[in-house]
Amino acid sequence: MAESKKLTFENLAHLVERRGLMTREQLKDVLVRGKAQESRLFSHHVSGVSRRTHSSSEYVSPAEILASFNLEIKDSPGNLLTEDVITEALASATGMPFLKIDPLKLDLRVVTDHIPRPFALKNLIVAVEESKGIITVAVADPFNEALVNELATARRLEIRRVLSSKNDILKILREFYGFRASVAAAEEEASTSIDLGNLEQYFKLKGHQELEGTDTHVVSAVEFLLNYAFDQHASDIHIEPKRETSLVRFRIDGVMHNIHIIPKQLHAPIVSRIKMLSRMDLAEKRRPQDGRIKTNFNNKDIELRVSTVPVAFGEKVVVRVFDPDILLQDLNSMGFYPRELSLYNSFLRRPNGIILVTGPTGSGKTTTLYSSLRSLSSPEVNIITVEDPIEMVMEEFNQIGVQQGIGVSFDSILRNILRQDPDIIMIGEIRDRETADNAVQAALTGHLVLSTLHTNDSPSTIIRLLDLGVPPFLISATVLGIMAQRLVRKICPHCKKVRTLSQDECDYLQLSGKSYAVWEGEGCKECRGTGYKGRSGLFEVMDMNDKIKALITNSVELAEVSRVAGLEGLVTLREIAIQKMLEGVTTYEEVVSMTG
Ligand SMILES: [Zn+2]
Repeated sequence: MAESKKLTFENLAHLVERRGLMTREQLKDVLVRGKAQESRLFSHHVSGVSRRTHSSSEYVSPAEILASFNLEIKDSPGNLLTEDVITEALASATGMPFLKIDPLKLDLRVVTDHIPRPFALKNLIVAVEESKGIITVAVADPFNEALVNELATARRLEIRRVLSSKNDILKILREFYGFRASVAAAEEEASTSIDLGNLEQYFKLKGHQELEGTDTHVVSAVEFLLNYAFDQHASDIHIEPKRETSLVRFRIDGVMHNIHIIPKQLHAPIVSRIKMLSRMDLAEKRRPQDGRIKTNFNNKDIELRVSTVPVAFGEKVVVRVFDPDILLQDLNSMGFYPRELSLYNSFLRRPNGIILVTGPTGSGKTTTLYSSLRSLSSPEVNIITVEDPIEMVMEEFNQIGVQQGIGVSFDSILRNILRQDPDIIMIGEIRDRETADNAVQAALTGHLVLSTLHTNDSPSTIIRLLDLGVPPFLISATVLGIMAQRLVRKICPHCKKVRTLSQDECDYLQLSGKSYAVWEGEGCKECRGTGYKGRSGLFEVMDMNDKIKALITNSVELAEVSRVAGLEGLVTLREIAIQKMLEGVTTYEEVVSMTG
């Protein structure tokens, strides 16, 4: 092998300083600290077991050491000198393209087919793309050209190198080779059981020797898949049987992504592993089932709600991921404007009455309810929830799940719940007259009731309650306030740029007068090219004051409620959306799709 250059911590630190990312003082400081660190790590490395295994994954790279100091980038307050920033500087200094690896864009076969796992792990190389016979590999060490050339010759490949951070590469290697290895091992086991060449034996074994959910390889494939989903902040995992294969997809920030295509014969064992974990009936494959899994990721409890339905080619599984960081938020950080937040908080402080949160599925109502209950929770109050089904299990609330199958309905639970001496009751959703009556009764007997309805805005909620048959005087007597809500995608701060709203767009939103500046994301590596990152809530809060109460009769029209609410200071969802657009939180397109 040709003698290769080696990157030292000292070289790297100088390079980063020359690129203008560090001050002279920072350089002096890190040289002292880095040297000490490097020699300590080196002696550990040589004396420890790692000398024998000689895997690069155990070795701490100069970029990692430098990143570990958490320095601020020169002239860029608040931005840290991360491993990515350092790697990008190193790439441009060595004339190599830098690649921020997006795991969702990788093809499992490309990653695992060309480079053997031990070689990839030892040398921190991952194949990221195959196009026209050329394999692009991401490497962590810019000076490993000779090694890559050897690989190219040995495997008869044409290889192009790009530089990526060591930790990104390691993560991909672990996820992809781990999942792949499990799937391949499981697949092999499944095929040896039928590919016997002996027809008699084949018939005997068929049906008995099929892979099961308890198979070690299936168990670890499912584990890899779940961890990968948590790591990518997926909200849903879909496992869909097709004619020949099985497709795994994730939903991230509201958008679906294809993740893996797995062999068809592994679909059933993977599904049965998930059904097992969620305590479903394994033998039942023709009826839809629901279950849940409680698991842990990065020291955080994560709740999974699993549902299965039979489709043409087998059972389709959807796993919803309930991340407590998303489901339980501080009301202050959800996107409220001050007027709406203080109004909503004033409802929560009342001892009794009904608070209604409305909006379509996926508008974040559950997050609002859980976060509200959490803010009210204390040792002095008894909180009971009635849900269908329980979204996320939380110890401080007493949660009751509706089970229609055994006759435990909303109605039957609510009829008995008052004997449990609650102070605050959360009713998952008011769908019918009975549930509405129970909510009213609970409010009249001194309880604070929080619930949701499927209506578009706050004024129409009153009409819906009248349609359900709740007498007008009882609505006036019990409902404290109504909040309608939506979620809009936030513009990615890393690729945000300004533009002017066109005349047509102004007309569509009925904005008149001057020209308006709005923002949008161009798409970058931080937002996977979507231009959006995270979501923000829009909240329209209607106070049930005397003017509104006086309107409520069986013959009142929606337009009249909306008109009076407007006069009383109601800021509509549409107005709030436009305000968020003009402040650069979200885009014109999001406003249109939300209000359209
Ligand atoms: Zn971006």
